[in-house]
Amino acid sequence: MNIVDHQSTKIVATVGPASSSYENLLELVKAGVDVFRLNFSHGSHEDHLQVINRVTYINEKYNLHIGVLADLQGPKLRVGIIKDNKLEIKPGDVLTFVNEECEGTMERIYMSYQQFPKDVKAGEKVLVDDGKVVLEVVSTNEIDEVKLKVLHGSELSSRKGVNLPQTKISLPSLTEKDLRDLKFILTQPVHWIALSFVRTAAEVKELRRRIDEAGHPAKIISKIEKPEAVQNIKKIIKASNAVMVARGDLGIEVPIERLPIIQKEIIRLCIQRARPVIVATQMMDSMITNPSPTRAEVTDVANAVLDGADAVMLSGETSVGKHPVRVVEAMNRIIDEAERIIDVQYKPNAAKKSRTFLSDVICFNAAKTAEEIEAKAIVGVTSSGYTAFKVSSHRPKCKINIFSDKQHMLSTLNLVWGVRCFYYDKFTTTDDTIQDLMEILKAKGAVQLGDRLVNTGSMPLHKRYRTNMLKITIVD
Ligand code: PEP
Repeated sequence: MNIVDHQSTKIVATVGPASSSYENLLELVKAGVDVFRLNFSHGSHEDHLQVINRVTYINEKYNLHIGVLADLQGPKLRVGIIKDNKLEIKPGDVLTFVNEECEGTMERIYMSYQQFPKDVKAGEKVLVDDGKVVLEVVSTNEIDEVKLKVLHGSELSSRKGVNLPQTKISLPSLTEKDLRDLKFILTQPVHWIALSFVRTAAEVKELRRRIDEAGHPAKIISKIEKPEAVQNIKKIIKASNAVMVARGDLGIEVPIERLPIIQKEIIRLCIQRARPVIVATQMMDSMITNPSPTRAEVTDVANAVLDGADAVMLSGETSVGKHPVRVVEAMNRIIDEAERIIDVQYKPNAAKKSRTFLSDVICFNAAKTAEEIEAKAIVGVTSSGYTAFKVSSHRPKCKINIFSDKQHMLSTLNLVWGVRCFYYDKFTTTDDTIQDLMEILKAKGAVQLGDRLVNTGSMPLHKRYRTNMLKITIVD
């Protein structure tokens, strides 16, 4: 199969009716998708299972390592059904939100958050329908009713999302629905699990505990979409394996003009800490209907690449859009062009007191050496994936070819900037391994006679220590 020789910046595509068939998934892979995202806000377990099976089949048939990301809905708040699906409102109107299900009218509107009357305070803002409707809390009876004044907006319709940027929400980040979804996810070969509306590192640790308890190797992506998460960002990054700048909800929850700066800062912090970072939402939004992107969208994707994001994500564009394959192709072209001038310079990020200090120094020097000798590739062997995350965080100018005997790990690493994965399970001697890996890359056309390679590995091989070896190899 003619797979795009992918760029370093990865593409995450959300699966939905426009992309879930085997043929569509395969076309998207050919166009350059690295990771498929299953959005658990939509679809049944049966739907998701079919997609997981199809991606697994594609990986086996074409010897690929496409990743699967299961995105938990989290405590997404919504209004209930609105009578005739339309309620006309105007500034100054007073609405009543109740916590008992009913058909929404001027007098009573259901909101899916039982603790709302207890948690909210007079004066706090309530945003509905992506901020198209802005309400202000007038009063709460602290039991089952909240009165809100309309500040802005003309219409409310059924099931619209609600954001409470100023309210300390007491809901756990794993809802009952999330726990049911998680139970299913943890029976599947899913590589990444995204936690929505994260506020603290403790919530990430709670998800980790559940994943570990199930003995599942999935890694965690924290979706940054609440002001509290931005405040706690360093601790959240530390507790997570990766981060998503979830600009959809984040752009409602914080003043929208702060979004570009928050995005840049999160990318910078993640790269410094060797955590992959995904930029998500509305990257190519107009292509849900149009055959080509807007100038602003092209610039947005290019800027994310230039800032050094590991991945850019498509949502409605590939899940329900009219042109899923064209979107991925267009995104690939933008990435390709931007990467020609990418110059993310990062300093050594090895902390002397850390348990990984010695291998961190090797990873940094692998990237530095590769640049100095103009290497064609860094070639690493990993079991935990650590070397791949760490080498990638230095954004080396050459390819990062990672070998592992853990199939699951290879697909996990498919999200990581610049990393290309290969299966390898023969471990005899270091000399043999270096020779073997070179032959595999030669056979794939990834390296040629005379190319310089930087090898990382662990010696002695059978002790399986952390990465402790750096070597220069010339392809012969
Ligand atoms: C977002 O809010 O940007 C996002 C990615 O989350 P979701 O699509 O689950 O709302």
